[in-house]
Amino acid sequence: MLADSYGRIATDLRVSLTDRCNLRCAYCMPPEGLDWLPAPTLLTDDEVVRLARIGAERLGITEIRYTGGEPLLRRGLPGIVARTAVLRPRPETSLTTNGIGLARLAGPLAEAGLDRINVSLDTLRPGVFRTLAKRDRLADVLAGLAAAAEAGLVPVKVNTVLMRGVNEDEAVPLLRFCLDHGYQLRFIEQMPLDAQHGWRRENMVTADEILAALSAEFSLTPDDSRTRGSAPAETFLVDGGPARVGVIGSVTRPFCGACDRVRLTADGQVRNCLFARTESNLRDPMRAGASDEELAGIWRRAVAAKLPGHGINDPGFLQPARPMSAIGG
Ligand code: SAM
Repeated sequence: MLADSYGRIATDLRVSLTDRCNLRCAYCMPPEGLDWLPAPTLLTDDEVVRLARIGAERLGITEIRYTGGEPLLRRGLPGIVARTAVLRPRPETSLTTNGIGLARLAGPLAEAGLDRINVSLDTLRPGVFRTLAKRDRLADVLAGLAAAAEAGLVPVKVNTVLMRGVNEDEAVPLLRFCLDHGYQLRFIEQMPLDAQHGWRRENMVTADEILAALSAEFSLTPDDSRTRGSAPAETFLVDGGPARVGVIGSVTRPFCGACDRVRLTADGQVRNCLFARTESNLRDPMRAGASDEELAGIWRRAVAAKLPGHGINDPGFLQPARPMSAIGG
């Protein structure tokens, strides 16, 4: 098992398949992009699958979520998913994507064994999409969402980050849109993980503000907090249910005490927290011939050293050196 010294067990593995992205969302990446990781440092498909297998077979990983960067840019994605879906014990396999290209790939990914999908959608207005993501791709994202539902990748979850003065007025229309289409919407508070270091607490649209905006139009009934488990979202029944909306208050309502996540970057580094300032290298020992058990040992020690919390609200907080796009959100 992947246990830390505070009694938490990591069972949910987030694997970044690339640090590249075809959008430039303002809360994540500068318009000009970043210096991408050099190709030889990236894990190959075989290396990704080997580490996924070690996680599932030896370390108690029960869920694997592929992410990035933009994971649909990884050419071998359907093959990686297919090889993950035949691991025993079989981990639940999911994907977080911006949806561009999903119209074409949703079917093949479902056939490969993908169980679920999260699509990021911050606005329903093409002009705001262009301002926020610096690309004119809203129609592709909406087509991707529809294709995911059509392919049976349900429940289709939608992730939204609201930014003050940009899309903060879209909480209600986005929820209506998701209710109409049967998607599960979750708002995520903006975190200090952008490459530009532009995050300011006063500019963050908080969970309280989001709930106040939604409550003006919908009746929200909190789900029983005992059923939340390690889920990052606080969920609410909308107008009596069964539809729900979630709010992930990563900054103002941290849930580190229940965290069950561990991350693997596209270049093979284990991170025990999104905000960790240290990493453990699995790639180099793997390439030097380490056995499965040796790699599992490095991984166990990495998780054992996990701190009690992300520290965003501490006076001495320092943003991690890697931005979100290079960690895997
Ligand atoms: N490219 C994929 C996507 O757009 O979903 C996967 C990677 S992206 C880093 C994963 C999620 O992280 C997205 O929902 C995105 O909105 C969110 N995200 C990125 N930067 C963030 C930040 N600074 N604060 C909160 N969420 C962020």
